Amino acid sequence: APNETTYNRVMLKISGEALMGDQGFGLHPPTVQRIAREVKSVHDMGVEICMVIGGGNIFRGLQGSAQGMERTTADYMGMLATVMNALGMQSALEAEGVFTRVISAIRMDEVCEPYIRRRAVRHLEKKRVCIFAAGTGNPYFTTDTAATLRANEMACEAIFMGKNGVDGVYDKDPKEHDDATRYDQVSYDDVLTKRLKVMDASAIALARENNLPIIVFGLDEPGGFKGILAGRGTYTKVQ
Ligand code: UDP
Repeated sequence: APNETTYNRVMLKISGEALMGDQGFGLHPPTVQRIAREVKSVHDMGVEICMVIGGGNIFRGLQGSAQGMERTTADYMGMLATVMNALGMQSALEAEGVFTRVISAIRMDEVCEPYIRRRAVRHLEKKRVCIFAAGTGNPYFTTDTAATLRANEMACEAIFMGKNGVDGVYDKDPKEHDDATRYDQVSYDDVLTKRLKVMDASAIALARENNLPIIVFGLDEPGGFKGILAGRGTYTKVQ
């Protein structure tokens, strides 16, 4: 059937920039709502959903430290930015009637739940979308690593990397080269050795160690996320 999927539990990773629309900064509520509808359509298929959202639309630790900030402080600011994005997504999902929990790697009990693995698993079993915030809770990491770590801990079957302006992994930057070609499938080792832009190297290594497939797809196409889960559309599978 066209609307069925073989997946039971997945991780969706999106960058912070995915939430900013054409604004160039911050959260654009209609864009957040559009992504929330994409998530709802997959939730409606009965799939258990974990999410990690980056923070680059608000603050990036590396950029802060490049401008003279102490690196770990800048990274904590980046992690706090992801909590704001997670709350924005929670609000949008709940407006669509999807129950959610924001689960933070850094405690802030008045705002969201702390990360307790067994509790998060229980939320998933009860079909609540779990939005994992504050990255790994550690400086010097990225939200790609956080997504891979939580996907492993939650026993997700795959990580779906939703990208803007691109529908998979190419051999060279498709925005700069007309003859760039998309991989249907590529190995973790090729991603690392050819430095293909999927995730940072530590996240790729963590996925490889645990045989966690990474599916890179375009987030721009309405219905795209659901289509990919049902086996339609274009994407690149890293495994
Ligand atoms: N960050 C961190 N540890 C983590 C995850 C994130 O220190 O485990 C910080 C880091 O400074 C990063 C920022 O949070 O630059 C925002 O995350 P990221 O750059 O991964 O966001 P994205 O590019 O996906 O929007």
